[in-house]
Amino acid sequence: MDYLLTEQQKMIQELARKIAVEKIKPVAAEYDEKEEFPWPIVKVIAEADLFGIYIPEAYGGMGGGVMDLAIATEELSWGCGGISLAYEATGLGTFPIILYGTDEQKKKYLPQIASGKKLAAFALTEAEAGSDAGSIKTTAKKDGDYYVLNGTKQWITNAGEADIYSVVAITDKKKGARGASAFIVEKGTPGMEFSKKEKKLGIRGSATREVIFTDCKVHKDNLLAREGMGFIVAMKTFDNSRPGVAAQAVGIAQRALDEAVSYAHKRHQFGQPITSFQGIQFMLADMATEIEAARALIYSAARMIDSGAKDISKASAMCKLFASDAAMKVTVDAVQVLGGYGYMRDYPVEKLMRDAKITQIYEGTNQIQRGVIASNLIKELSKK
Ligand SMILES: Cc1cc2nc3c(=O)[nH]c(=O)nc-3n(C[C@H](O)[C@H](O)[C@H](O)COP(=O)(O)OP(=O)(O)OC[C@H]3O[C@@H](n4cnc5c(N)ncnc54)[C@H](O)[C@@H]3O)c2cc1C
Repeated sequence: MDYLLTEQQKMIQELARKIAVEKIKPVAAEYDEKEEFPWPIVKVIAEADLFGIYIPEAYGGMGGGVMDLAIATEELSWGCGGISLAYEATGLGTFPIILYGTDEQKKKYLPQIASGKKLAAFALTEAEAGSDAGSIKTTAKKDGDYYVLNGTKQWITNAGEADIYSVVAITDKKKGARGASAFIVEKGTPGMEFSKKEKKLGIRGSATREVIFTDCKVHKDNLLAREGMGFIVAMKTFDNSRPGVAAQAVGIAQRALDEAVSYAHKRHQFGQPITSFQGIQFMLADMATEIEAARALIYSAARMIDSGAKDISKASAMCKLFASDAAMKVTVDAVQVLGGYGYMRDYPVEKLMRDAKITQIYEGTNQIQRGVIASNLIKELSKK
């Protein structure tokens, strides 16, 4: 398919693919097994200048957008969806600064992220506040020139490894959803700690930890946007970052298809390659078609976001929903195509199935995405 990529986007795709094939694929199973954070690969991605592709040129980036980020994320995730998450979650932690940072904040933080010297993270979720993010309890109390943060953020990707955190906390309990604010918090700030790493089903090369704030003083210069805008910052961030999760899903799914086709071509049963059976052919055809449809939806949403369009929530939710559901189905089918071998850890597809599952859960579960899509449909109707 011709995706009408620009020359720069083709270059990004080629570079990320090369890293995925040569550097990530050979070590993916090892990182999955050992559950280690992939610092050596992060360094390779940084040296290839991929961390800055969506960051404005004025702040050390290449000035691309969500489309560029999606292209790179898909390729890296083809290599390993867990390893690529260090890259993708840095995007999630960076969007609040790109979208709402002051010039000073951007000058201070974005060049370090663009160069890959520092990773970022985004901390919203708490034990009692997942889908219902409005129930967060972490507080940020104003005290002179500082805000004092108290509370615990749960399941934060890159936590402990990243240096720069976009954190949402309550500044005014009485105001409900309008009482939250977003802050940039640097690792090393006294009162900020991390729990031990979580043990997960998939994406095991990624780091997931709690971020614990105990009387953690953050200077008022690190407030993002204005007091009370925390949830707007979070929701706009998700609008920009969800195509990245979708791209992660498509990268994992594409790898599953590639593995399934290559295996099916070689595997013989009843004296013939299993690709000669229509049951297998139809499965492969459906897998390929779902992947193409998901990719088309991602590119369409990403281009819409990059064009500066205002109402992007629906398109962004749709691509995340469709691509992650497709990835789950495609990876389950890939295991089926490989039969019993697919179930064995010696073959890569069981890992792909485990890695795919998270894309239906984080940055808003797919039930929440359906809610976003439906509420936008109703909003559109009332405008007619
Ligand atoms: C590996 C991993 C990494 C993560 N990384 C981050 C991160 O970097 N930063 C961060 O802030 N968070 C992160 N999260 C948190 C993630 O975004 C949440 O887990 C997710 O939003 C769902 O919240 P929950 O797990 O509390 O599920 P719940 O909200 O408790 O949902 C449980 C079930 O109920 C359904 N449900 C809930 N509400 C509704 C509704 N209104 N309508 C229909 N169904 C509903 C859900 O879809 C789900 O099926 C991560 C989570 C994981 C597992």
